[in-house]
Amino acid sequence: MTAWEAVVTTAGEKYVYDFSEGHRELKELLGGKGANLAEMTRLGLPVPAGFTVTTRACQAYLATGSNPAGLAEEIDGHLAALETTMGRRLGDPADPLLVSVRSGAAFSMPGMMETVLNVGLNDASVVGLAAQAGGNERFAWDSYRRLIQMFGKTVCDVPGEEFSAALDEAKNARGATDDLHLDAADLRALVDRYKHIFAKHTGYDFPQDPREQMELAMTAVFRSWNAERAVLYRRQERIPADLGTAVNVVAMVFGNLGADSGTGVAFTRDPASGAQGIYGDYLANAQGEDVVAGIRNTVPLQELATLDPRSYEELLAIMAKLEGHYRDLCDIEFTIERGKLWMLQTRVGKRTAGAAFRIAAQLVNEGMIELDEALRRVTGAQLAQLMFPRFDLGADAVALVKGIGASPGAAVGKAVFSAARAVELAAAGEQVILVRRETNPEDLSGMIAAQGILTARGGKTSHAAVVARGMGRTCVCGADSLEIAADRFSVAGRTVSEGDVISVDGTTGCVYLGSVPVRPSEVVQYFEGTLSPEEAGDPLVEAVHKLMSHADAARSLAVRTNADTAEDAYRARRFGAEGIGLCRTEHMFLGDRRELVERLILAATPTERADALAALLPLQRADFVDLFRAMDGLPVTVRLIDPPLHEFLPSLEELAVNVAVARERGEDHAEDAQLLDAVRRMHEQNPMLGLRGVRLGLVIPGLFAMQVRAITEAAVQLAGEGLDPHPEIMVPLVGAVQELETVRRECEQIVAEVVAGSGVEVLIGTMIEVPRAALTAGQIAEAADFFSFGTNDLTQMGWGFSRDDVEGAFFWRYLELGIFGISPFESIDRDGVGRLIRIAAEEGRAVRPGLKLGVCGEHGGDPESVHFFHEVGLDYVSCSPFRVPVARLEAGRAAITAGESDSR
Ligand code: ADP
Ligand code: MG
Ligand code: MG
Repeated sequence: MTAWEAVVTTAGEKYVYDFSEGHRELKELLGGKGANLAEMTRLGLPVPAGFTVTTRACQAYLATGSNPAGLAEEIDGHLAALETTMGRRLGDPADPLLVSVRSGAAFSMPGMMETVLNVGLNDASVVGLAAQAGGNERFAWDSYRRLIQMFGKTVCDVPGEEFSAALDEAKNARGATDDLHLDAADLRALVDRYKHIFAKHTGYDFPQDPREQMELAMTAVFRSWNAERAVLYRRQERIPADLGTAVNVVAMVFGNLGADSGTGVAFTRDPASGAQGIYGDYLANAQGEDVVAGIRNTVPLQELATLDPRSYEELLAIMAKLEGHYRDLCDIEFTIERGKLWMLQTRVGKRTAGAAFRIAAQLVNEGMIELDEALRRVTGAQLAQLMFPRFDLGADAVALVKGIGASPGAAVGKAVFSAARAVELAAAGEQVILVRRETNPEDLSGMIAAQGILTARGGKTSHAAVVARGMGRTCVCGADSLEIAADRFSVAGRTVSEGDVISVDGTTGCVYLGSVPVRPSEVVQYFEGTLSPEEAGDPLVEAVHKLMSHADAARSLAVRTNADTAEDAYRARRFGAEGIGLCRTEHMFLGDRRELVERLILAATPTERADALAALLPLQRADFVDLFRAMDGLPVTVRLIDPPLHEFLPSLEELAVNVAVARERGEDHAEDAQLLDAVRRMHEQNPMLGLRGVRLGLVIPGLFAMQVRAITEAAVQLAGEGLDPHPEIMVPLVGAVQELETVRRECEQIVAEVVAGSGVEVLIGTMIEVPRAALTAGQIAEAADFFSFGTNDLTQMGWGFSRDDVEGAFFWRYLELGIFGISPFESIDRDGVGRLIRIAAEEGRAVRPGLKLGVCGEHGGDPESVHFFHEVGLDYVSCSPFRVPVARLEAGRAAITAGESDSR
């Protein structure tokens, strides 16, 4: 080392932390696994010794393609210390120290990255290991073949199937069903086969130098950050791409030393339902990844109580300690080596939506956390999941098999047997269920495409289960009586072939033949008011009730609904809507009213037009009467007619054909010909930017006036009945204050005339959905009692995107390139469209401090966007009825997390 390098190393960054140096707050630096291993070490739990190389070292490696200066020396120092602690040297032929090299990012990415066990074994140390294990040769060769397999697969890209095939051959040769029946000689022969496979694919022999093994494995872990499936998973989970992974080097402990050894995973509460209790899987005489991969069938953790009572008791005590320490559901990986328990991992466990609500509420009841904290731990997206329907089992439901309900929901679809077919059929618009013996990370694309996932192997902690829960896909796993072939499965004498429909219940674990009808969730019934939390006695409903009540108490944003009919309005009101933020009036011009609208459009004289409008007036008024009645006492924002009028006429093609045919046959076609003329006249190149919204009102005399009259007359009628209507008239597509002023003058006249003496108060406001309106909001506020942000149009016009054209055409490419992480139509674009909203809110309120501000458009029900609207200080959001509870919850979360940057 030159003097200069020494300066950099000593003055530079610390890249390696012993487990005794870290703690759980260092997740970003040490990754979740490393930080929690350190935390458990600090708590005095039995964790094998080891150290963590930081995510910053990985970032440096990924940026430059080589390790940062000083890293090698730091690793040397920590390895030497580890060797001293363990009293063994890495790969010592006589008495080898072995280590695992494990990835671990800040966000858990189950099964996405690489881990290599038994590093340090080679042709010489395998003999030493056997001797050290009291002459257990079987164990030593088993460990060696695992190393070659894992190292080959993850470090050198040797196809894993070749190793599995060789293992299967060895088992077949023995007539054995599982690997436990292979003896030392078999495994030794298998090691030879594996080395051969390794050399064939890599062009060199399996590396014998332990230090080289370790280094290569560490580099492979760094590189695994950018593996295709990890990139895909991060995109799906919206995890930033530049975090990198840490690498943990951990002294090996052995669960494959015999019947008194084994390995398992455990949860402190049920991650599927949230029920309290001990949940987990245990596998005797095995190494860790066997449990997770579902290679052999595990036994329930409770059986450990008989197999090894001492370790079981100790494990329960540790689990209680961890739960108390983390104040949350923990999941745990452990290994027992000859009756001695070792903790290999813990983290705050992933859980289903239902479990999230139940656990949060339980922890409040147990006095472990406050209500605010509980609310932080559930999300609107989870609530939305709980509002999905479930199966309604009739007597004729044909049960096929019962597996483990690993991720709830009711999924119906055609059975497919490969990820590729799942993707193919889903792209063709089919609903599919992906059926696999077990899943592995290569199946991810198929799991995303499928409605549900069904596997024959693996428990609640298998890859399929963990990933499906994370994505909110329905999943049943461990249905071990399924016999799965390439394009069909059979069970209990029945065969289901590719394309046959099956129904998968991720809550109960049951799988049915054919399509089972579904029924609404109890959470929806609770919102509907047909199921009260007390009488239901349903812990999930109670938990939702508790957290929703807290969200309602905490939030400052009001939640309204978008509703055009009284029916929607009643439903939304039961869901907690505090008014209507957007009633579109255009549907009121459809159906049997089309004819009147045609008369209006074709009117040749002012009298004809006035007649048509007069005929429409009572119909509109009746619509509003129903709506105001449904929202009695609450504000109802009615948007004056918005779309271009020709949308109410038949299409140009249809009319042209009708006219041509009629003319041919010599039939009367005067009316159609007249319509055709009108449609031709009104044809627009860019209808979205054409004659619509306020422009219509300014061009067609009497149109807005008729609507305003219908609204106010309806309100006055209800007031006369003793009800309390609050109409708010909203003018769409305003870009300049002069537009609004003109319409407002006309409206005010009618309002004054109609409401006189009735006590009804009418607000007149505008949508802010044209960028110019946002930028001149100070002027527009002079003529507006309220602003409602029309975020769909504002996004369209802000970006210059025609939504219908762009989403299918090229958004995938934009998402792929990371131009945006999520469609701006789904979640508000804070920097651009959001800035327009900020400007309009600030400048509008500067002119008119009491200006009411709201948002309508689907962003109003999007969790991320709700947080933004809270920050900007809007008064309310408005969304479709089913999103109302989601918006309420998120508005509450926004109020208690305001200022925290991460609302995930
Ligand atoms: P993943 O993140 O995919 O769970 P891990 O790094 O946790 O990967 O390791 C995979 C398996 O190997 C786990 O079951 C783990 O418990 C086990 N394992 C890891 N390190 C050791 C070790 N030092 N001794 C014994 N088993 C280990
Ligand atoms: Mg693990
Ligand atoms: Mg609009």
